Amino acid sequence: MSAAARTDAVLALLQRVGATHAPAALASSFGAEDMVLTDLVARHALPIRIFTLDTGRLPEETQALIERTRERYGVTVDVYVPDAGALQRFVRDHGVDAFHRSVELRRACCAVRKTEPLARALAGKRAWITGLRRAQSVTRGEVAVEEFDGVHALPKFNPLADWSDDDVWSHLRAHGVPYNALHDRGYPSIGCAPCTRAVAPGEDLRAGRWWWEDAGHKECGLHRRPLASPARPAERAAAEPAS
Ligand code: SF4
Repeated sequence: MSAAARTDAVLALLQRVGATHAPAALASSFGAEDMVLTDLVARHALPIRIFTLDTGRLPEETQALIERTRERYGVTVDVYVPDAGALQRFVRDHGVDAFHRSVELRRACCAVRKTEPLARALAGKRAWITGLRRAQSVTRGEVAVEEFDGVHALPKFNPLADWSDDDVWSHLRAHGVPYNALHDRGYPSIGCAPCTRAVAPGEDLRAGRWWWEDAGHKECGLHRRPLASPARPAERAAAEPAS
């Protein structure tokens, strides 16, 4: 498939979601994939909200890209921050860098800083859109373009599920899309500053996320599996495990 046909297919899907699932929202961490989707949503003025989760630990390069995106496209980015009381209690009880001590504490930190704010961001939405790709890691090998997210009881669309790394970067370069400066310093996947490092050539694209954990644990809870594709009956969703 040509690059133009690939992009047209993604645009058609975004247009359909915007028209049939209003209000729909694009979840952006301002990674390369999210910038492809942001570029299409903004340039085509699609009726899709763009939101991000400001965990309080984001790199300054990500904060700078949020501002560049606002300036470049004139879009509103809805920013969700952790609940102040929950964050205060977590830091009081476990310290500000508890994530190094165990997988459980790392997940607890992600729950306070990411998962709970995500639930607030998705409240009232009829669908959400992400930049997940199957090629990103072993934990994302089953990502489908269209799924049902039983955790949030919402359709979930991953328009770039079958895109390669080259497909993403070809789009960014062809359209002069701004991207995170850390990508040029060996960071293919960017999250919170203390939990992200650069990767070596040939390493898994998400090897730099929580690098002290086993590869199979490397999700923050935002994209819990299993999900159904394309739609999960209500009774199956209700029976789905919480994590
Ligand atoms: S990525 Fe690290 S700092 Fe960010 S929420 Fe998760 S554990 Fe906390």
